[in-house]
Amino acid sequence: MTGSRGILALGALAIFGVTTSSARANDFDWPVSGRVSDTYYSSRPYGYHAAIDISGPSGDAVGAARAGYVSYRGYNGGYGNLVIVNHEAGYSTYYAHNIAFGQAGNVARMTTISYRGSTGNSTGPHVHFEIRRYGSKLYVPASMWDWISKGTGVPWGYTGLTSAPPPVVVHSPQMILDSVGQVWAKNSIGASGWTRETPAGIKAISAGQ
Ligand SMILES: [Zn+2]
Repeated sequence: MTGSRGILALGALAIFGVTTSSARANDFDWPVSGRVSDTYYSSRPYGYHAAIDISGPSGDAVGAARAGYVSYRGYNGGYGNLVIVNHEAGYSTYYAHNIAFGQAGNVARMTTISYRGSTGNSTGPHVHFEIRRYGSKLYVPASMWDWISKGTGVPWGYTGLTSAPPPVVVHSPQMILDSVGQVWAKNSIGASGWTRETPAGIKAISAGQ
C-alpha cells in the first residue's frame, strides 16, 4: 500500500510539473509592477546599463521572475540590498536596491523575494532588474516609460535564449559599483582582485560555482 501511494504521488507531481513548465518554458515574468524608468541601452560611464529599472512605490513585493534558488541576498555596493536568483540552464536574475528581503532558498515563479526600495546607488525607489546567462547580461526589452504589470511575461527576443550555451563560465556574485558607476566583479577562482565588468562581461571561469 505504501509503495503504490508513493507512485501515485510521484505521478501527480510529474503531471503538475509538466503542466506548469510547458506553459511558459522560456520566458521570465516582470518581477514587480511599475514604470520602466531606465532601459537596457541607457548610457553609463562604463558603457551602458544592461538592465531595466522598474520604478514604483517603496515596499512593493518583488517576485522571482522564474522559479529558482536564491543564491545571494545581501548588501552589495551600488546594488544596495541585492537578491540573485539562479535558474536552470545557466540563467540568473538580479534584483537591486531593495528595502527588505523576502523568501530565501528555493522559490517558485512570483514568490516574493524582496521589497522595492532605494538602497545603494539609487535616487528613488525602483528595482534594477537584470537577466543573465552564464554571467552575461541578456537583453531585456522594455520601452522607456512603459507601464508593466507584475507577472506578465518578458517579451521574447533577448539575446541568449535561442543561442547555443557558451563555454561553462559562471559569474561571481560578488559585485560592487564604484563612485563613478563602474561595476566591478570579483573572480571566484584564480584572481585576487576586482576586475571591471564589461557590459557583456563574463568574468569568472569556473565549473563549480
Ligand atoms: Zn538600474
